[in-house]
Amino acid sequence: MGVIIMLIFLGVIVYLLKISSRKETKLLETLPVEDILRLLEDHVDFYKAIQTPERKETFKNRVIRFIQNVRFTDVDTARHTLLDEVLIASSAIIPLIAYPDWEYQNIREILLYDDHFNLDYQVNEKNHIMGMVGDGAMNDTMILSLRALREGFEKKDGSQTALHEFVHLIDKADGVADGVPEYLIPKSLIEPWLRHIRAGIIDIKQNDSEINPYAATNEQEFFAVISEYFFEKPQLLQRHHPQLYEMLNRMFKRYP
Ligand SMILES: [Zn+2]
Repeated sequence: MGVIIMLIFLGVIVYLLKISSRKETKLLETLPVEDILRLLEDHVDFYKAIQTPERKETFKNRVIRFIQNVRFTDVDTARHTLLDEVLIASSAIIPLIAYPDWEYQNIREILLYDDHFNLDYQVNEKNHIMGMVGDGAMNDTMILSLRALREGFEKKDGSQTALHEFVHLIDKADGVADGVPEYLIPKSLIEPWLRHIRAGIIDIKQNDSEINPYAATNEQEFFAVISEYFFEKPQLLQRHHPQLYEMLNRMFKRYP
């Protein structure tokens, strides 16, 4: 009898070890690839506007890979759908459209809240934080308001919360979030870029700029906010701020 209990006990241990060592990626065959494709076609303008079938295929595959590798966790009453995962993954891939080999090393989990939250993670429509990337113990974690995510794709008003947060991750990939994404920007452009950022911040503070005033917070927020503008309303940015547009185009190579 003792031996049997011992064997069962050993079996349980081996099973638990197997579970804990299993890689956290979701299996491709369990993902509803056809549904993901349909959601991209129906809800992501950027995907629809991609010109060649090859580039569309690459975008779709990168979205699927992102969904496979990242954990999406609902907090409290939040209930996310497959569409939310597609919108988040698209927001991750859009700014890196010209860098097909880029894989995010600094995101593992995305915590999803129903609505906007505050620094104590209290959810309330009156709170103002729509998304943030974690630091310290929360490194590799992003927090998003589902309302802000969805409105970013529905309203088309130049604001794209999820893309904003992924631009922070791209900025942070070189070790420091400072508005200078060193993997994207040639060294010779770093100084001119910083001059453009500082001039842009002064312009927001002193004049009647149409750029979201949150950009004037600091260099890293300027980079994230102006990137939302660049991807959401490129023609308008080009008309109003041709030099900023030109700098961003050299980094993101949206039209290579
Ligand atoms: Zn930000």
